[in-house]
Amino acid sequence: MPLPLNISDNHLIDRFGRLHTNLRLSVTDRCNIRCFYCMPAENVVFRPREELLSFEEIERFVRVAAGLGINKLRLTGGEPLVRSELHKLIERLANIPGIDDIALTTNGLLLADQAAVLQTAGLHRLNISLDTLNEATFERISRRTGLQKVLDGIFAAQKVGFKKIRLNAIAIRDLTESEIIPLAEFARSNNLELRFIEFMPLDAEGNWQQDKVLTGQTIRDILEAAFCPLEPVERQEVSQPAVDFRFADGIGRIGFINPVSEPFCGNCNRLRLTAEGQIRNCLFSDVDWDARALLRAETKSGASDADLGQLLHDCVSAKQPAHGISENDFQKPNLAMYQIGG
Ligand code: SAM
Ligand code: SF4
Ligand code: SF4
Repeated sequence: MPLPLNISDNHLIDRFGRLHTNLRLSVTDRCNIRCFYCMPAENVVFRPREELLSFEEIERFVRVAAGLGINKLRLTGGEPLVRSELHKLIERLANIPGIDDIALTTNGLLLADQAAVLQTAGLHRLNISLDTLNEATFERISRRTGLQKVLDGIFAAQKVGFKKIRLNAIAIRDLTESEIIPLAEFARSNNLELRFIEFMPLDAEGNWQQDKVLTGQTIRDILEAAFCPLEPVERQEVSQPAVDFRFADGIGRIGFINPVSEPFCGNCNRLRLTAEGQIRNCLFSDVDWDARALLRAETKSGASDADLGQLLHDCVSAKQPAHGISENDFQKPNLAMYQIGG
């Protein structure tokens, strides 16, 4: 990946030349639904509240990361909107020099109530997960009710002025096929961008199999047959996971995130911080880099911002080149998606 000219020595560059500018912050492992591709159905043991980083701790971590070239944040979880007063965290993060983009990924259930305060706090972009427009299918996937609340959340976000809202839909064989055309019609008629994400081996129940992945190419073929040709859109950034297209009739755009059929690790620029303050250099890494221990050590043993910066560098230096999902010796990570932060 060619490095921009204004990169200084302290930036987070790994052994393969990948510059890390993007941080995904999980603010909770809790969720108000139980999607089968992510969480267990029952008896979920959540982290005790005191183990989660406070807003002050997250802010300090981000300040250090911003000093090392991180400029984009995405808040996620679990369901980030169940973390109380999330807008206050956004306000803090929006004031950190160097942070120029803050996005949020949400299931949308609590969005109608929070859209306005999130916007005022400085949130720039919203991704809303929507796998179906059918309530029975929503219940089958999430083991909860609530599709109408998600739709209310989407429209409330548009009303308060969020632009370029993206819908994320999971792509799972024998589930998603029937949802593709209704979701595309909904997105096209409501000025929303739709992205399909291939199912990854990050479900808590361990049911993932390669043949359950509905590939982006298959979805593309279905869309072209139903609507019109899809024309490639030039990538805005080489590191963006999605390949985007516009419908040739000029109505709407569609994107594909194909981590299984077309891995994009070679251009990865992402780091993650779990809700309990562990840095992970890859969704598929099992190694935790314990930022919380340093954040909480400050008053006792004097861990400094430089120590935190060093931890970030050590974590990035240890990053593997790729996830290896399709290799014979692939090992599923010890945490599921809701515990890492998607
Ligand atoms: N709760 C929020 C939501 O659902 O949008 C944010 C966290 S969720 C873990 C973030 C994204 O991860 C969602 O779009 C979800 O569809 C996706 N996801 C969860 N499990 C996945 C899996 N096994 N494979 C691919 N994507 C997954
Ligand atoms: Fe919750 Fe998001 Fe996981 Fe669904 S995908 S269970 S909404 S964290
Ligand atoms: Fe980056 Fe790991 Fe995802 Fe590959 S699998 S894109 S290296 S986070």
